Amino acid sequence: METVKCLIIGGGPAGYTAAIYASRADLSPVVYEGIQPGGQLTTTTDIENYPGFENGISGQLLMDTMKAQAVRLGADIRTGAVTEADLSKRPFKIVIDGSKEIFAETLIIATGATAKYLGLPSEIKYRGLGVSACATCDGFFYRKKKVAVVGGGDTACEEATYLAGLCKKVYMIVRRDVLRASEAMQERVRNTENIEILWNCNTQEVLGDEYGVTGARLLRKDGEVFDIAVDGFFLAIGHHPNSELFSQWVAVDKEGYIVTDGKTAKTNVEGVFAAGDVQDPLYRQAITAAASGCRAALDAEKFLKMQ
Ligand code: NDP
Repeated sequence: METVKCLIIGGGPAGYTAAIYASRADLSPVVYEGIQPGGQLTTTTDIENYPGFENGISGQLLMDTMKAQAVRLGADIRTGAVTEADLSKRPFKIVIDGSKEIFAETLIIATGATAKYLGLPSEIKYRGLGVSACATCDGFFYRKKKVAVVGGGDTACEEATYLAGLCKKVYMIVRRDVLRASEAMQERVRNTENIEILWNCNTQEVLGDEYGVTGARLLRKDGEVFDIAVDGFFLAIGHHPNSELFSQWVAVDKEGYIVTDGKTAKTNVEGVFAAGDVQDPLYRQAITAAASGCRAALDAEKFLKMQ
C-alpha cells in the first residue's frame, strides 16, 4: 500500500505549481497528470500574457518547463488519471486508471475545466488553426481581422468586446433572440460598433482551407442558410469543471465548480484542497491557476504541520 503526504491530481499550471511549492516544503508530492498532461494550455499556441516571457512562450513549452522545474525540485510526476476517489476518511483513497490504489494525507485537486465545443467535425479539424475557446489567449493573432464568437452569455460578451478592441469586425452567433448575459455586459456589446449579433443562428459548419478557418456556415431559425467570412472562430458556450469524481465528497456550486473557503484553497473536507480552473468560474487564466496552486500547497503544508 502506497501512502503519500501530498497527492496532486492534475498536470496544468495549478498542479505543477502546487508540486513546485510542495516539493520545496518537503512534502514529497506525487502528481498524476491526467489524460491531458500540461492541461488546456497545450491546446493553445503562444501565451503572451504569462509574466516573465518578454516575447511570449508556447503553451506546450511553458507547461514542459513548469513540469521540469517541479521534477528538479523532487516532485514525482506520473502518468495516469483518477478513476475513483474515497474522501470519507484520511488517508484519502484514490484509484488510478481503474487499478492502482494510492492513499494520501492531503489531496490537491487541480483537474481543470474543459471548454465546451459544439461537436462539429469541422470544429475539431480547425482547432488551433482558427478555432479557439479562449479569446484572451488567441485573440491577438486576429488583429485587424474578422472573427466570430459563439454564445450569448457573459463570457461570449466579454470575449466579443475584448476581440472588438483588436479585430476589424466581430460577429456574435447567438442561438436565441436574447442574450443570457448580464445587462451590464449586454450594454457593452450594444455600445461596441464593430460587434454584429447574428440572432437565432446555429453553426452548421466551420469553413476552411489548408491554412485554417475562412468562415462559418450558419442556419437561421427561419431556415435561411448563409456563410460569413471570418479568420477566427471562438467558442464561448461555457466551461465544464472536471469535478465529477470528487463532487460526492467536496462541496460544488450549481455549475459543478469546487467551493473553496475564502482566499484559501480549502474545501469543506479537511485535508482536501482545490486549485485552478476546477474551482474558478471567473478568471480561468494560467497565471491565476498557478497562483491558486501555490496557495493549495501552502495550505496543505500548514495542515500537515498542525496534525
Ligand atoms: P453561460 O452558460 O452563462 O452561457 C453560455 C451561452 O452559450 C448561452 O448564451 C447559451 O445559449 C450558449 N450556448 C450554450 N450551448 C450552446 C450551443 N450548443 N450552441 C450555441 N450556443 C450555446 O456560460 P458563460 O461561460 O458565459 O458564463 C458562465 C458563468 O460565469 C455565468 O454564471 C456567468 O455569469 C459567469 N461569468 C461572469 C463574468 C463576469 O462577471 N465578468 C464573465 C464571464 C462569465 P442559451 O442562452 O440559449 O442557453
